[in-house]
Amino acid sequence: MSYVIASPQQASVPVKGTYLRFPVRRIYCVGRNYADHVVEMGGIPGREPPFFFQKPADALLLDENFPYPSASNNVHHEVELVVALHSGGKNLAVEDASRHIYGYAVGIDMTRRDLQGEAKKAGRPWETAKSFDHSAPIGVITPKSDIGALESAKIMLHVNDEPRQNANISEMIWSVPEIISELSKLFMLNAGDIIFTGTPSGVGPIQPGDRVRASIAEIGELNLRVCKPS
Ligand code: MN
Repeated sequence: MSYVIASPQQASVPVKGTYLRFPVRRIYCVGRNYADHVVEMGGIPGREPPFFFQKPADALLLDENFPYPSASNNVHHEVELVVALHSGGKNLAVEDASRHIYGYAVGIDMTRRDLQGEAKKAGRPWETAKSFDHSAPIGVITPKSDIGALESAKIMLHVNDEPRQNANISEMIWSVPEIISELSKLFMLNAGDIIFTGTPSGVGPIQPGDRVRASIAEIGELNLRVCKPS
């Protein structure tokens, strides 16, 4: 196949313990999946069906420098468990969902909270709040074959060594298999898809100069430095 311009680069994430990389097809994200975070955002926690949005695959940031984005004065961190799929399908049963998981990573769903607030008020889509360049910092992927299916693990985020977010992934309103099952009712899931599974409470602003450390037990750490916009 020949293209009229150079082919854009395939987005990918390093895999722990190997020189191989995991190629990323789509990034799905879950909204409001921890009760305490639903409350801090002004909502009422419950078991309403989960809702989803996407970020473009090239929004992944593998560098330790996070450039503060344009057009916002209120960028928030949201630490999240990321699940990477090595297979997919549609209408997947909850009981079968885990076998599609290749591995796990620590991710941050960076959010222009000011633009999100305006979008919510106006009933507009969230793209400019959620899907900007470098809005998806991610650490290396830990294969599920190394640690088994992850149902419980501490998830934390520190800014300048101060704890901001501190929870357990077992507190999710919708579990990882349930998220995969629900998402597969809406989209055909495929190998290479990754899912940001929602953030616990404690989200807040970051500023240029801040050091951000996100961690999930058994998976590892993700360290960022917030840089001035270029
Ligand atoms: Mn999020």
